[in-house]
Amino acid sequence: MGYAVARAAQEAGAAVTLISGPVSLPTPAGVSRVDVRTAQEMFEAVKKGSKGADVFIAVAAVADYRVKNPSKQKIKKGNGAPRIELEENPDILAWVASQPKPPFCVGFAAESENLAENAKAKLARKKLPLIAANIAQDTMGRDDNAITLYDAKGEHPLGRGGKLDLARRLINQVADRLK
Ligand code: C5P
Repeated sequence: MGYAVARAAQEAGAAVTLISGPVSLPTPAGVSRVDVRTAQEMFEAVKKGSKGADVFIAVAAVADYRVKNPSKQKIKKGNGAPRIELEENPDILAWVASQPKPPFCVGFAAESENLAENAKAKLARKKLPLIAANIAQDTMGRDDNAITLYDAKGEHPLGRGGKLDLARRLINQVADRLK
């Protein structure tokens, strides 16, 4: 979905920086891509790339936690199952949205249930003007999706369609709100 949004924004005339984890998708034409592997690398790239941006759209499903005690060597068996400790990753979107003069921030909410309730809670918690919500199991690894937007005024269904189609509808909605 992130690649579709980057392409739709570029087509609409935006100068687009796509900060991406490792995927096998081709970079959309005219889009400049920054590759990252971890949430922390993504955070650093976003800090740089969002400076002076008009719009920040957070589509990545960033892991909430990372391993605190990674081993440099292969872990040998023999001492029982190893303990894997986790620590929290930064919430990249919440950080951008809380900057003094933030870009127009759009979040994504992939939920397995209670779409409206969870999306509205995220809108408020991350202090966003707009969030795009979808049911995760209806879209992961598929070409189509169904998205509903939530903002301070309520619910705006974008309907069902191909990801690029929905991305174009989303970019139109963002452009309307920038006017
Ligand atoms: O809280 P949750 O992960 O469901 O929120 C989803 C939104 O927050 C998405 O827009 C996602 O890109 C963003 N996010 C983030 N940094 C994280 C976790 C989520 O920017 N560590």
